[in-house]
Amino acid sequence: MPRSSSSRRKNKWQREPRDLSETTAGMRTSRSLSDGTWSVQTVKGNDSGKVYVCPGCGRDVSAASGHVVAWRQEARHGIEIGVESRRHWHPRCFDRFR
Ligand SMILES: [Zn+2]
Repeated sequence: MPRSSSSRRKNKWQREPRDLSETTAGMRTSRSLSDGTWSVQTVKGNDSGKVYVCPGCGRDVSAASGHVVAWRQEARHGIEIGVESRRHWHPRCFDRFR
């Protein structure tokens, strides 16, 4: 009694796994700090003309120069509810104060 010849093969339509990191602008990482887990994103300068205030030194952070955007995650639900409260930092200030 021959076995069935219709043994399953691997799907031919398997695709390469997508690398999501390539689709996000800039580089985003997570940091565990004393007050929770933060998302930290390094952004390149843009021509939006916006100016933010750095929480570290209280000086202006121009959007025209590369800087760090950080916000707290809501880790329990896996949802980043802190995006609206994100802050813009000078890279040096973030390393120094966080
Ligand atoms: Zn600063």
